Amino acid sequence: MWAKKTVHTRDLTPYITRDHDQSLSSRLAALYEQQKRSWPQFRRGHEAMKKAQVRTIQLGGCWVRCQYTPHRITSVSARVDPRSIARRSCFLCPENLYPREKGLPYGEDYFILCNVSPIFDFHVVITHQDHVPQQIEGHFDTVLELVRDISPHFVLIYNGPRCGASAPDHLHFQAFPAQNLPLESQAWAVHPHIIETDQILIGAPSGFSRRFLTFESDRSEALSLWFHQSLVALAETEASVREPMINFVMEYQEGRWRMVLFPRRKHRPRCYHRRGDQQMLISPGAIDMAGVFVIPRKKDYERLDAATLHHIYQEVTTPEDRFSRLVEKLREINETGAYR
Ligand SMILES: [Zn+2]
Repeated sequence: MWAKKTVHTRDLTPYITRDHDQSLSSRLAALYEQQKRSWPQFRRGHEAMKKAQVRTIQLGGCWVRCQYTPHRITSVSARVDPRSIARRSCFLCPENLYPREKGLPYGEDYFILCNVSPIFDFHVVITHQDHVPQQIEGHFDTVLELVRDISPHFVLIYNGPRCGASAPDHLHFQAFPAQNLPLESQAWAVHPHIIETDQILIGAPSGFSRRFLTFESDRSEALSLWFHQSLVALAETEASVREPMINFVMEYQEGRWRMVLFPRRKHRPRCYHRRGDQQMLISPGAIDMAGVFVIPRKKDYERLDAATLHHIYQEVTTPEDRFSRLVEKLREINETGAYR
């Protein structure tokens, strides 16, 4: 089934900008251009994205970008409870793709498609070829390879099944050009690390209204190990048997992986569920946590201010005491070498 959805090399070649550049990021960019011309619904999504209004809000020592994007209403307001998910047909399974929707296989298990409602130029979705649930355990090593393969131009994001994934029943990631997320430049400013070894640097920067960890390493095994340790520690503080609520952003630059991990308290803030004028349709995933608020309604876009934004971040980010316990736990593991 996926073979039928694979874009033909002869259709892609005219869009390869640099001579014979067959790198994955070059082919992704070519796919995006090819699909803009041959898949009408995607072209409309792209044109809507291009008309997005944007403004920045200063938030303490950092800033975030608000993006008024009416075409994202379906995604932002998607019902993601198990019952609704079971009743809809999965938009990431090959039999349900648009007729003109084509993509590129990645490895044996993945397939890359354009995002029909892009938030950025060259916004793509990397979907597992099987209808398997969204969860990171067991797939993190593939993510590390994938991020290296789409570097240096693309970053990858992951939304956990309970905090941002619009298809919690079908494993997928998203990728887009690196310079779009404000936090990507803000989070790496000099700050003391909580763990500093010859294998990895882990930071817990403050002053961003939301809490997150930064990881930097040139060793895939080290990053994989510490990511796993963080999930175990988070699961203990969340008292849940399911995957802890997380989003992350990852990139690979100059031989090093860099990841920002957002532990979450909840998916949608209270204002999302309110009625009438009290309601604000804001549904934060990795992109919003990394500093781009995707807002599909004009009235919400216009009235969102720094105080409300700070409040929303505080509501959906992991609570301070839980975050402190996570940091303590990671320090303890580093000191005692008691990895799990
Ligand atoms: Zn599916």
